[in-house]
Amino acid sequence: MYDLIIIGGGPAGLTAALYAGRSRLRTLLIEKMALGGQIILSPTIENYPGFPGGIDTHELISAMRRQSEELSIEIKTEDSVGIIPQGGIFKVKGREEEFEAKAVIVTSGAFPKKLNIPGEDKLIARGVSYCGTCDGPLFKNKEIFVVGGGDKAVEEAIYLTRFAAKVRLIHRRDQLRASKILQERLFENKKVEILWNTVPLEILGEKAVEGLKIRNVKDASQKDITAGGVFVFIGIHPNTEFLGNLVKKDEGGFVLTDEDMNTSVEGIFAAGDCRRKTLTQVITACSDGAIAAFNANRYLETK
Ligand code: NAP
Repeated sequence: MYDLIIIGGGPAGLTAALYAGRSRLRTLLIEKMALGGQIILSPTIENYPGFPGGIDTHELISAMRRQSEELSIEIKTEDSVGIIPQGGIFKVKGREEEFEAKAVIVTSGAFPKKLNIPGEDKLIARGVSYCGTCDGPLFKNKEIFVVGGGDKAVEEAIYLTRFAAKVRLIHRRDQLRASKILQERLFENKKVEILWNTVPLEILGEKAVEGLKIRNVKDASQKDITAGGVFVFIGIHPNTEFLGNLVKKDEGGFVLTDEDMNTSVEGIFAAGDCRRKTLTQVITACSDGAIAAFNANRYLETK
């Protein structure tokens, strides 16, 4: 029996592990894939304090992992499929194994949303991508589209100009949502063209992406533009389906917590991108993780 199980090994989970380890809680961290969560899709983290010029994402995650290991946190690769409260403890069911703990912190993160337009599913990994870092080099000297107007879309559009001959960013409004510093960099980049008030209708191609059918939302005009790739960055969807109706969530599936990271079930906490919050950043995920572990420790002391 563990004192604490942390589900998810991104910045929120790894920070929760650090704080739990320093409280000497017997802690298991479960991660279904590689440690790091969504940020491993970005090469560099530029806005984590203390690293002028940015820090390599893998370096940051490795350092977080080492800190957990120094505190004897157990880390297992396992896909959590459910949490069952049972007589004051929690059974955490994985695909392979089952574990028990007195408290749980859910830091299961989020994954990229799809456009849900014709051609998208068929052409995934054939020119449709949700990760510039992973797939960018495959688009050397090609003309590509980036869909979205948030931080992620703008950051990735700039990154993809390292490889692509031209990046067309299409956004459904006439103003970007991304932070001003990223916008400035985007506007300066000569390889980027921005198509305002434009939405994608269909990704064209049979065996590989050949183009995108787009529509101008102001005048309803449509056209097909040739392209070798379509990168989609239109927001995130939480990895919280495995929780079923156990804890309260919002309409988008994000777990509802109070400021102490308590969910609607006593003893279950949530932290990071899987919970409803206004700012999803590495720094706020770490902050959430620290608060969740602090309060999980308090909860365990009162039991
Ligand atoms: P986001 O901030 O939610 O932006 C999503 C963008 O996609 C918005 O511009 C939205 O348009 C557009 N969009 C949504 N659904 C669409 C659809 N069906 N068709 C076309 N466009 C659509 O998501 P994100 O950029 O993935 O970022 C997620 C979180 O991570 C944010 O909190 C962000 O700040 C953070 N993040 C931060 C950094 C950084 O600080 N360097 C980097 C990456 C991510 P509207 O603007 O019209 O709503």
